[in-house]
Amino acid sequence: MTLTQVRDWIDAADKVTVFTGAGVSTESGIPDYRGPSGTWTVDPDAAKYVDIDYYVRDPEIRKRSWARRRDHAAWTVEPNAAHRALVRLEERGKLNRLITQNIDGLHQKAGTSPDRVLEVHGNIFGVLCLKCGAETSMREALDRVDAGEEDPQCLDCGGMLKSTTVFFGQSLDPVVLRHSAEAAADCEVFVAVGTSLTVYPAAGLVDVALEAGARVVICNAEPTPFDHRADAVLRERVGEVLPAIVGQTA
Ligand code: ZN
Repeated sequence: MTLTQVRDWIDAADKVTVFTGAGVSTESGIPDYRGPSGTWTVDPDAAKYVDIDYYVRDPEIRKRSWARRRDHAAWTVEPNAAHRALVRLEERGKLNRLITQNIDGLHQKAGTSPDRVLEVHGNIFGVLCLKCGAETSMREALDRVDAGEEDPQCLDCGGMLKSTTVFFGQSLDPVVLRHSAEAAADCEVFVAVGTSLTVYPAAGLVDVALEAGARVVICNAEPTPFDHRADAVLRERVGEVLPAIVGQTA
């Protein structure tokens, strides 16, 4: 299946739903999790920082988590050609929803409308109080860290704070999940980019799109469990594939 054929499908479509994973951000310099130089491959202990049980139990993990948030690449890196291609897809009036597993906000930074983006794993720019549920800004919390608080607590109730990302052991937001499933069902072309499609809810969304009769396009460097059911599988770098298949602004 060639890039040209996929581009023709997208040209002909009114509604394209896109699902992105870590592979879209690696070209901006944000490491993925499970790849050869991924965060969890290099340091198996790193997964503890996104595990709610370790986080709640261990003040040392929380202290180091705040330092990691302050140093996270998301604050400094720029969107890449893949992000910009998806902005163009919206400008062409074809982007239904952009569902992402990424927490780095790079789709919005590139210019995709925030109300089109569904962040199934949340994002790093907010802070949630585990006691009262208040949501505040990460920037403000990091200012407190910079001022010497190693594990800042909720200013309203004194509760424990964490980023508004979804940790292991936490539920995904049911509203975001519902909208994601609706978007997967309501499209003519479903494009999964830079994701291994092995982690829930990724796999479920591909199933929804397939059952709804959408053409499914997978762009990923490594094989996925859905390759044999996809209408097209593209192995090239996502920063090259996406610009090629979304075409130009009209
Ligand atoms: Zn609170």
